[in-house]
Amino acid sequence: MRRIYVAGNWKMNKDHDEGAEFAEEFVSLIGNGSFSFKVVIFPPFTTIPAVMSVFGNGMVEVGGQDIFYEDEGAFTGEISGKMLGALGCRYALVGHSERRHIIGEKGEILAKKVRAALRNDLTPVFCVGEMLEEREGGKAKDVVREQLAEGLEGLSEEDASKIVLAYEPVWAIGTGKTATPEDAKEMHTHIRSVIAESFSPHLAEGMSILYGGSVKPTNAAELLSEDEIDGVLVGGASLDASTFYEIVKAAR
Ligand code: PEP
Repeated sequence: MRRIYVAGNWKMNKDHDEGAEFAEEFVSLIGNGSFSFKVVIFPPFTTIPAVMSVFGNGMVEVGGQDIFYEDEGAFTGEISGKMLGALGCRYALVGHSERRHIIGEKGEILAKKVRAALRNDLTPVFCVGEMLEEREGGKAKDVVREQLAEGLEGLSEEDASKIVLAYEPVWAIGTGKTATPEDAKEMHTHIRSVIAESFSPHLAEGMSILYGGSVKPTNAAELLSEDEIDGVLVGGASLDASTFYEIVKAAR
């Protein structure tokens, strides 16, 4: 079933005190309300326990910004899906553009990370998106098709049905430039057709595809009103509780 998501990626921001402060403020903004959609925060690893202790009732879910592809062993500095699951996380971001382009993660590693998340009962939020020169060169759809093929390679239909996708054009991340709802819709439709070809039309129809790239309270409602956009992945605008709450209200 296609679900709607409002997700916040804090990147390398907020220590555990700042994370707890955000969570307390956000909970007080929500009050006794409930959501018909999922609200998920991706804090830095070290901030997860502090945030989790405030969001314990599950109204706001928590995920890791990354995951290693093995569950334990001699992998200095890495965090496994098993560890994220033990903290109560339900999600893991895989293939965020900053991991692809700053850290240099490639398709084969990302495919293993998707599998590690699934193996540990975490929902992988698999990110795809083209760079500016790829868009300008008319290659955006091919780039995204290839990223999907690499990341989801060899998955069973059952496993693929557990994945959430996020289309995040690299030129729109942290730049203040947002894809128009029409551009985002066109790419989401393309992604759904790639999933339909690779798995099945039924699976594609049920898959949630989020948009990310300079989402703010001022553009969230318009993006979310597109049928093809099943939620938003928010970076900068998720760092302030009241700003993020405005985006949540737009989803409502
Ligand atoms: C992101 O980090 O996934 C993102 C979309 O960032 P921003 O909203 O700041 O562009």
